[in-house]
Order: sequence, then structure tokens, then C-alpha cells
Amino acid sequence: MSSLSAPKRPGMCPRQVSSSSFADAFDDARRRLDELGVQEPGEDEVLSPALSSSSSTTDESALGSPGETESPLSPSTPFTAPITPAADPDVADDFAFAFDIDGVLIRGGKPIPEAIEAMRVLNGENEWGVKVPYIFLTNGGGKFETERCRDLSEQLEIDVSPGQFICGHTPMREFADRYGTVLVVGGEGEKCRDVAESYGFRDVITPGDILRANASTAPFRKLTESELANSRDLLARHGATKLSDIVIEAVFVFADSRDWASDLQIILDIAQSRGGRLETRSATFDEGPPIYFSHNDVLWSAAHEHARLGMGALRRIVETVFEDTSGGKKLETHAFGKPQVSTFEFATRLLQQWRAQQHGLADSAPPRTVYFVGDTPESDIRGTNAMDAKAENEWYSILVKTGVYQDGTEPRYKPRKLVDTVLDAVHHGIRREMVRLGSRKSTGGRMLPLDDAALKAVGEGRTPSFEVQDDPFLAVV
Ligand SMILES: [Mg+2]
Repeated sequence: MSSLSAPKRPGMCPRQVSSSSFADAFDDARRRLDELGVQEPGEDEVLSPALSSSSSTTDESALGSPGETESPLSPSTPFTAPITPAADPDVADDFAFAFDIDGVLIRGGKPIPEAIEAMRVLNGENEWGVKVPYIFLTNGGGKFETERCRDLSEQLEIDVSPGQFICGHTPMREFADRYGTVLVVGGEGEKCRDVAESYGFRDVITPGDILRANASTAPFRKLTESELANSRDLLARHGATKLSDIVIEAVFVFADSRDWASDLQIILDIAQSRGGRLETRSATFDEGPPIYFSHNDVLWSAAHEHARLGMGALRRIVETVFEDTSGGKKLETHAFGKPQVSTFEFATRLLQQWRAQQHGLADSAPPRTVYFVGDTPESDIRGTNAMDAKAENEWYSILVKTGVYQDGTEPRYKPRKLVDTVLDAVHHGIRREMVRLGSRKSTGGRMLPLDDAALKAVGEGRTPSFEVQDDPFLAVV
């Protein structure tokens, strides 16, 4: 029925996948970004320490498996689940969408009004009757992926599957086999410990466990009764006689801290310890275990009129205070999430699986174009543009005005297209594709770049005249 019902796939090289896991891809992407001279927002120091260089300093203690929690997103699902292609003649196989959530679809726990309509348009309620595959890629976290998908399904009035969802800590599961005892920071109550254990982490310690073992760790923090009840007895659990017998092999900040002061103290204590041993202090301040943050957003769009401080702010504080309290030694921490290219590569794998599972698009090649819609230039737009520079296919960045980005300002990282809302972004992408399809027909298969005038012409039922514009912030190409 639609003009995309049997589109001819353009010839393109299959993506070269040289990394077998996110962990490897993370190393690889950091190295490549270094080669490109790309640094993380606001950072001057050299990036790309080898993630494995500061790994285990102890044997993996034979602790019992802590995880009774059933994994909602175990390594076998959805990424390696059997694929059952089901033909879907109305689905677009040439392009797809990926969405940031906060400030694009949701704000302060409520859907942005245009978001519900945008999802309907993607699900086929458009003038071409085409369904467009889409995934969600948020830096947020602190819940099981299944829980967050349930929330999102209600908010957006659609069915959102974990197979189309990546949050900040999702890629951390690929590190579960790399470390034995880890500290997991952030989130409500025990939630992040549960999530980490569902990922396969074998021995997860929380700041609450450390405060229970030694309340003077953070003098002004008093655990509540339920926190005390939920925290674990570290000495008994590890069969240790003193805390310094326990070695933290890595620190993972899964979600936003609920108590920055005590979490900061505990992260710094471990960063300045002798090889991750609790309650010890290094003489050289260079023996601490690796510290990973699930993302690096300094600001995020919440219910408040102005953007709120995010995990990236805590990361800056950790690094700055470490330097101030260690005689000038630098601390290099690591961040997942956008704008890391490895996160977008992870999204590419998820999208391919999702297109195959949900839409029967079993082609090994990714969609020719992925439209990424975000509200934060420093993470969404920067990461999409960096991915576009590296990937074989096109990653097309669209910035909306409903979140962190303030209309009228010059974004530090420029999108290919600036629009008011996510609905405008969806219309823009679909129309662009339809016009490209038309241009291919009229030029014997050659795809031409487009501008707003061309898109407008199509919307009015006219044949556009194609021309190239140079300024990517103003032109649509
Ligand atoms: Mg956002």
C-alpha cells in the first residue's frame, strides 16, 4: 500500500563489527575518539585509559551468588534471542528513529504532549501509511529496563519492549564477568544492587553496606531503619575479620546519587585506597580501582523550570576533589552513555535485533539512516554526529526545544535539524525519506540531498527542485 512497501535497498557496505562486546567496543571507541582528537565535554585531560589496566587486584572470592532476582534483560535476551522474522510489508526498511527520553518525550514524569502523537505517526498513522522502527536511548537509569519500559508504555500509550530500550547502565552488564567485588552507587534503595545482580555481577557492595560497617565513614549520614535492614554485613559475607580484607575491584555509578555527600566520600575513599582495599589510603594515590559512571550529563531536563544537576556534575566533583586532596594527582574516571560512540554502536546492534524481531527485517545491514532526536547538544547531538562520522550508515541529529537546549542560543554541538518538538522531528525525518525516495525515482537511483524548500514542496504535493546547501545547521541535507 505504501510507496515503501517494497523499496529497493541501496547498495552499501555491511558494517564492520570488530568488537565482540560493549566492553571491547568501549575500549575501541575511546581509542578512535582519541585518534580523532575528540574529548569529552569540558575535559582537557587525556582520555582513553585501558579499562582493563586497573582491574582485579585480588582473586575472585568464592561468594555465593547474590542474585535471586530474575533478570529482566539477561544476556540471552533480547540481544541473542532467536529471531523470528515476520513479514511486515508496510514497514520502512531504509530508515529508523532513535529517541532520547527526558526533555524529548517525557518531562517531570509526564509526557510532552506532542510525544504521543509522534509515536502514532511512527506506528503508521501518517499520510504514507508507513511504520517506522524506533528505539529509545536514554542516559537515565536506576530501574530495571522492564520497569522503565512499563512506565514509558503508559506514558506514551504504546507498547515499549526492553528489546528497543537502552538506559545509562544497560551496557554495564557486559562488565559483569570482568570484576568480582564491585561498589554500586546511586538510585532508590536497593534497586541498583538488584539491577547489577540481574546483570550477573557476583558481589555487589553499596554505600549503605559500608556505612553499616563503619558509621563514621560519613559523619553526618545516618542510615534509616529500612536502609540498615537492607544493607549487608560485609565482614560476615566476606568471611573477613577487618574491612581492609575486602577489595573493591571497580566502582559503578549506576544512577543519580540520592546523597551526594556520603557517596562522594565513599567513592573518594576507594579511589584513594591501596588497590581498592576498604579503609586503606595509598601513599601514591594511583592504586585505586576503575570508576565508571553510567553517563556524563551535567544537566538534565526535569520538572523544574531550569535544568537540574546530573551525574556528570558528581563526576566532575569526584575528579576535582580527588586532585585537591591528593597533592595534585589526577583521577581519570570513565563514562558510558551518550555521547560515547560505543553507546551508539551498542544502539546499532539493538536496533538491528529489534528490526529483525519486530518487523521481520532480517537484513544484516543497518538502516541507511537513523534519525536521532535529543534535547541535549553535549550528549545527544555530539554523540550522534560523532557516530555519523564513524559509521557506514547515516546518523542524522535532530535537536528539540522542549528540554535542556534553550531556544535562541547557539548549541555547542550543532544538529542537522533544529525543530520545536519531537512530533516535528518525526514529520521531518519521514518527509525527508519520502522525498529522497522520490528523488531516487526521478534520477534513476541517485539519492539527492534535500533542503527545507524541497520538503515543503512535497508537503504541498509539488515536485521539489533539489539543491545542496552548505550550512548544516540551517540546511537539511
Ligand atoms: Mg534529554
